Amino acid sequence: MAEPAPPLGNPLLGIDRLEQKEQVGHRTVTKEMIHNYVQHLEEKYAVFDTNLESAPPNKWAKYGKGIIKAMQSECTLKEDEHRFLVTNMGYIFNEIMIDYMSEARSRLSIVPKRLSEEEIFGIQATFIDQECPKCKVGHVQKLLPTECEASYGPYDVSRLKNNPLDIKGYAAMVVGTDAMLLFYGRAVPMFLNLGITNQDQLSFDKNRTGIADAVRERIAILPKSCTMPILVEFRYDYLSTESLPTQMHLVVSSLAQVQREYDGPIILLIPPYRVQEGDGWNDYAKGKRYHEYWEKIGTQLGQMLGLAVGSVLMQSEYRDENTVYNHTSWSVEPLFNEKKQCTREYHRRMFCMLLNLSMYIHPWIVPVSDRQKCQKYKSQSDLLGRLADIYSAGF
Ligand SMILES: [Zn+2]
Repeated sequence: MAEPAPPLGNPLLGIDRLEQKEQVGHRTVTKEMIHNYVQHLEEKYAVFDTNLESAPPNKWAKYGKGIIKAMQSECTLKEDEHRFLVTNMGYIFNEIMIDYMSEARSRLSIVPKRLSEEEIFGIQATFIDQECPKCKVGHVQKLLPTECEASYGPYDVSRLKNNPLDIKGYAAMVVGTDAMLLFYGRAVPMFLNLGITNQDQLSFDKNRTGIADAVRERIAILPKSCTMPILVEFRYDYLSTESLPTQMHLVVSSLAQVQREYDGPIILLIPPYRVQEGDGWNDYAKGKRYHEYWEKIGTQLGQMLGLAVGSVLMQSEYRDENTVYNHTSWSVEPLFNEKKQCTREYHRRMFCMLLNLSMYIHPWIVPVSDRQKCQKYKSQSDLLGRLADIYSAGF
């Protein structure tokens, strides 16, 4: 039998440079640090000051990525390297998500503000004759009529408990809470839709860890060795008296705990801003800027507590008074019709973004069976260690 290769020298040696007490990311954060940081966020958020103090640096992602790469090259790992990976997974994926969002944003082009005004109903007069009977807006591209059916909601988790689903083929699980609850046909075979429809479970004043409990309940119905990414929609409870930064902190910290129990990535996503009753273009633009700010706050808290946070990038973003950032693949069509319902373009952009994100994350996921292969070194070194003990005892 071929001997397993020894652990890779370079990337893995890095862990030794972290002091013992720093090897578990979330243990380096004290209650006082969190309290002070949330307070800082509250002060900034109250006046929409986006110039935030950075959370403590992420010391774990670099080494974690090195370990993942070593596992992919089928190098064998030491026990402490494996433990490091499991306990710091959220920090590793936090950095990967930051990279993803930065890359996705770099693909946005600069266009005059008026182009993005078409995202909401009202301006699109030229298509009135071609109005789609389902979306109630005009489509620039004519495609299959069934594409406009977006009536596919989540599965009922309680019914799946004793009737496991075949999860092969899904790119990710989506736990929507509002904007990500309904999908159109193309997305159905790609995303395992296990959204939360019980609004009571999401009431912040009744249960502060409602979202995390729901995600745990959904993980329980997956096969044991599942590493599928779980995309969770952030929901701000406007009825609660708690501020946005406090709610975000509790969601991030409770999901970071679930992440430490799960072998795949858990990603908290800020949903697109959905147009509200009576919203004019300025209200809509303001709503979008708030969502971008939520992402910034969530990402910093995720860096502190160990959780990947991003946003569903599918709306133009503010650049200055006259211009916005927009994606060249987006059709210039309303995302919401006159009744504030989501159109085909909304569902298309959502689908493409979630798929791109899942593909970006995928190479960083190491299946559990591959992980076990990488632990051969442990048993051999244990044996050698025991033999050494025996010989040194003068046997
Ligand atoms: Zn349509």
